[in-house]
Amino acid sequence: MSELGKTVLVDMDGVMADFDNAALVSISKKDIVLRSSFYVAHDYPANLQPAIEDVYNAPEFFENLEPMPGLKEAWQEMIDNGYDPRVASAPLASNRSAVEGKIKWLDRVMVPDFGPKIVEEAIIDKQKWKYRGIALIDDRPDVPRGENGAEDAVWQHILFGWAHMSKVPLAATAFRLLSWRDINGLLSTLESIEKG
Ligand SMILES: [Mg+2]
Repeated sequence: MSELGKTVLVDMDGVMADFDNAALVSISKKDIVLRSSFYVAHDYPANLQPAIEDVYNAPEFFENLEPMPGLKEAWQEMIDNGYDPRVASAPLASNRSAVEGKIKWLDRVMVPDFGPKIVEEAIIDKQKWKYRGIALIDDRPDVPRGENGAEDAVWQHILFGWAHMSKVPLAATAFRLLSWRDINGLLSTLESIEKG
Protein backbone atom coordinates (compact mmCIF):
# COMPACT_ATOMS: atom_id res chain seq x y z
CA MET A 1 0.00 0.00 0.00
CA SER A 2 1.30 3.45 -0.86
CA GLU A 3 1.79 6.01 1.90
CA LEU A 4 -1.46 7.73 0.89
CA GLY A 5 -3.33 4.50 1.35
CA LYS A 6 -6.39 4.19 -0.77
CA THR A 7 -8.34 7.22 0.39
CA VAL A 8 -10.47 8.87 -2.28
CA LEU A 9 -11.85 12.26 -1.22
CA VAL A 10 -15.30 12.99 -2.67
CA ASP A 11 -16.99 16.38 -2.92
CA MET A 12 -20.72 16.61 -2.15
CA ASP A 13 -22.43 19.43 -4.09
CA GLY A 14 -22.62 18.59 -7.77
CA VAL A 15 -20.82 15.29 -7.19
CA MET A 16 -22.66 13.23 -4.56
CA ALA A 17 -25.75 15.45 -4.35
CA ASP A 18 -27.62 17.08 -7.21
CA PHE A 19 -27.25 20.73 -6.30
CA ASP A 20 -28.04 22.27 -9.69
CA ASN A 21 -31.44 20.74 -10.42
CA ALA A 22 -32.66 21.64 -6.96
CA ALA A 23 -31.20 25.15 -7.09
CA LEU A 24 -32.86 25.88 -10.43
CA VAL A 25 -36.49 25.14 -9.49
CA SER A 26 -37.31 28.83 -9.96
CA ILE A 27 -36.11 28.74 -13.58
CA SER A 28 -38.45 27.33 -16.20
CA LYS A 29 -37.08 24.25 -17.97
CA LYS A 30 -36.80 26.02 -21.31
CA ASP A 31 -34.58 28.71 -19.81
CA ILE A 32 -32.08 26.33 -18.21
CA VAL A 33 -28.71 26.69 -19.91
CA LEU A 34 -25.58 24.55 -20.02
CA ARG A 35 -23.54 25.29 -17.00
CA SER A 36 -20.60 27.55 -17.70
CA SER A 37 -19.90 29.15 -14.31
CA PHE A 38 -18.78 27.44 -11.16
CA TYR A 39 -21.52 29.27 -9.25
CA VAL A 40 -24.68 28.12 -10.97
CA ALA A 41 -26.58 31.38 -10.35
CA HIS A 42 -23.98 33.21 -12.45
CA ASP A 43 -25.22 31.44 -15.57
CA TYR A 44 -28.46 33.44 -15.37
CA PRO A 45 -29.33 37.11 -15.84
CA ALA A 46 -28.93 39.30 -12.78
CA ASN A 47 -32.70 39.64 -12.31
CA LEU A 48 -33.09 35.84 -11.96
CA GLN A 49 -30.17 35.29 -9.60
CA PRO A 50 -31.82 36.31 -6.31
CA ALA A 51 -34.52 33.65 -6.72
CA ILE A 52 -31.88 30.97 -7.29
CA GLU A 53 -29.88 32.14 -4.29
CA ASP A 54 -32.98 32.17 -2.09
CA VAL A 55 -33.54 28.51 -2.95
CA TYR A 56 -30.04 27.30 -2.10
CA ASN A 57 -29.74 29.46 1.00
CA ALA A 58 -32.92 28.03 2.51
CA PRO A 59 -32.36 26.08 5.76
CA GLU A 60 -33.62 22.75 4.42
CA PHE A 61 -31.99 22.95 1.01
CA PHE A 62 -29.03 20.62 1.52
CA GLU A 63 -30.70 17.82 3.43
CA ASN A 64 -33.32 17.35 0.70
CA LEU A 65 -31.05 17.09 -2.36
CA GLU A 66 -31.32 14.04 -4.60
CA PRO A 67 -28.28 11.76 -4.83
CA MET A 68 -26.49 11.89 -8.19
CA PRO A 69 -27.33 8.97 -10.48
CA GLY A 70 -25.19 5.91 -9.81
CA LEU A 71 -23.58 7.36 -6.68
CA LYS A 72 -24.25 4.48 -4.31
CA GLU A 73 -23.27 1.81 -6.81
CA ALA A 74 -20.00 3.62 -7.55
CA TRP A 75 -19.33 4.14 -3.82
CA GLN A 76 -19.78 0.40 -3.25
CA GLU A 77 -17.53 -0.40 -6.23
CA MET A 78 -14.79 1.77 -4.78
CA ILE A 79 -15.04 -0.10 -1.46
CA ASP A 80 -15.12 -3.47 -3.22
CA ASN A 81 -11.96 -2.51 -5.09
CA GLY A 82 -10.09 -1.65 -1.91
CA TYR A 83 -10.54 2.12 -1.96
CA ASP A 84 -11.63 4.14 1.02
CA PRO A 85 -14.00 6.86 -0.20
CA ARG A 86 -14.33 9.77 2.20
CA VAL A 87 -16.57 12.83 1.98
CA ALA A 88 -14.71 16.14 1.51
CA SER A 89 -17.11 19.03 1.20
CA ALA A 90 -16.77 22.79 1.54
CA PRO A 91 -19.77 24.35 3.28
CA LEU A 92 -21.59 27.05 1.35
CA ALA A 93 -20.82 30.20 3.35
CA SER A 94 -24.08 31.93 2.46
CA ASN A 95 -26.23 29.12 3.89
CA ARG A 96 -25.90 28.99 7.68
CA SER A 97 -27.48 25.55 7.79
CA ALA A 98 -25.14 24.08 5.19
CA VAL A 99 -22.99 22.01 7.56
CA GLU A 100 -25.95 20.64 9.50
CA GLY A 101 -27.85 20.02 6.25
CA LYS A 102 -24.97 18.09 4.72
CA ILE A 103 -24.71 15.82 7.77
CA LYS A 104 -28.45 15.24 7.68
CA TRP A 105 -28.17 14.38 3.99
CA LEU A 106 -25.42 11.85 4.66
CA ASP A 107 -27.50 10.36 7.49
CA ARG A 108 -30.53 10.01 5.24
CA VAL A 109 -28.93 8.99 1.94
CA MET A 110 -25.65 7.22 2.67
CA VAL A 111 -25.66 5.91 6.26
CA PRO A 112 -28.40 3.30 5.67
CA ASP A 113 -26.17 1.61 3.06
CA PHE A 114 -22.67 2.44 4.26
CA GLY A 115 -22.96 2.90 8.02
CA PRO A 116 -22.20 5.80 10.37
CA LYS A 117 -18.49 5.77 9.45
CA ILE A 118 -19.30 7.95 6.45
CA VAL A 119 -20.50 10.74 8.75
CA GLU A 120 -17.83 10.19 11.40
CA GLU A 121 -15.08 10.53 8.80
CA ALA A 122 -16.70 13.28 6.72
CA ILE A 123 -14.53 16.33 6.13
CA ILE A 124 -16.56 19.53 6.01
CA ASP A 125 -13.88 22.10 5.28
CA LYS A 126 -13.07 24.31 2.31
CA GLN A 127 -9.34 23.76 2.78
CA LYS A 128 -9.35 20.41 1.02
CA TRP A 129 -5.62 20.56 0.39
CA LYS A 130 -5.06 19.75 4.07
CA TYR A 131 -6.42 16.23 3.69
CA ARG A 132 -4.64 13.21 2.37
CA GLY A 133 -5.85 10.94 -0.36
CA ILE A 134 -4.82 9.64 -3.75
CA ALA A 135 -7.61 11.58 -5.46
CA LEU A 136 -10.22 14.27 -4.94
CA ILE A 137 -13.34 13.87 -7.07
CA ASP A 138 -14.72 17.41 -7.36
CA ASP A 139 -16.75 19.42 -9.88
CA ARG A 140 -14.91 22.64 -9.12
CA PRO A 141 -12.51 23.17 -12.05
CA ASP A 142 -10.09 25.35 -10.08
CA VAL A 143 -10.22 23.52 -6.76
CA PRO A 144 -7.47 25.15 -4.65
CA ARG A 145 -4.41 23.03 -3.93
CA GLY A 146 -3.11 25.26 -1.16
CA GLU A 147 -3.17 28.71 0.34
CA ASN A 148 -2.03 31.67 -1.77
CA GLY A 149 -1.23 29.49 -4.74
CA ALA A 150 0.86 26.99 -2.78
CA GLU A 151 0.86 23.34 -3.90
CA ASP A 152 0.08 21.59 -0.64
CA ALA A 153 -2.42 19.04 -1.88
CA VAL A 154 -1.13 15.51 -2.29
CA TRP A 155 -4.20 14.24 -4.17
CA GLN A 156 -4.85 14.28 -7.89
CA HIS A 157 -7.98 16.16 -8.88
CA ILE A 158 -10.55 14.19 -10.87
CA LEU A 159 -12.92 16.75 -12.42
CA PHE A 160 -16.48 15.48 -12.07
CA GLY A 161 -19.28 16.30 -14.51
CA TRP A 162 -19.05 19.14 -17.03
CA ALA A 163 -20.34 17.17 -20.01
CA HIS A 164 -19.52 20.11 -22.26
CA MET A 165 -15.82 20.61 -21.76
CA SER A 166 -15.83 23.80 -23.81
CA LYS A 167 -17.95 25.32 -21.05
CA VAL A 168 -15.49 24.61 -18.26
CA PRO A 169 -14.40 28.04 -17.08
CA LEU A 170 -10.80 27.22 -16.34
CA ALA A 171 -8.33 24.82 -17.79
CA ALA A 172 -8.84 21.71 -15.83
CA THR A 173 -7.03 18.64 -15.08
CA ALA A 174 -5.71 15.47 -16.56
CA PHE A 175 -8.39 13.34 -14.96
CA ARG A 176 -12.12 13.48 -15.56
CA LEU A 177 -15.26 11.55 -14.65
CA LEU A 178 -18.52 12.53 -16.34
CA SER A 179 -20.85 10.43 -14.22
CA TRP A 180 -20.88 7.84 -11.44
CA ARG A 181 -22.49 5.52 -13.99
CA ASP A 182 -19.08 5.24 -15.67
CA ILE A 183 -17.78 2.72 -13.14
CA ASN A 184 -15.10 1.43 -15.49
CA GLY A 185 -13.87 4.96 -16.06
CA LEU A 186 -13.82 5.60 -12.33
CA LEU A 187 -11.82 2.47 -11.53
CA SER A 188 -9.39 2.87 -14.41
CA THR A 189 -8.77 6.51 -13.48
CA LEU A 190 -8.07 5.61 -9.86
CA GLU A 191 -5.79 2.81 -11.01
CA SER A 192 -3.80 5.08 -13.30
CA ILE A 193 -3.43 7.66 -10.52
CA GLU A 194 -2.13 4.96 -8.19
CA LYS A 195 0.41 3.85 -10.77
CA GLY A 196 1.54 7.46 -11.07
MG1 LIG B 1 -19.00 20.68 -5.74
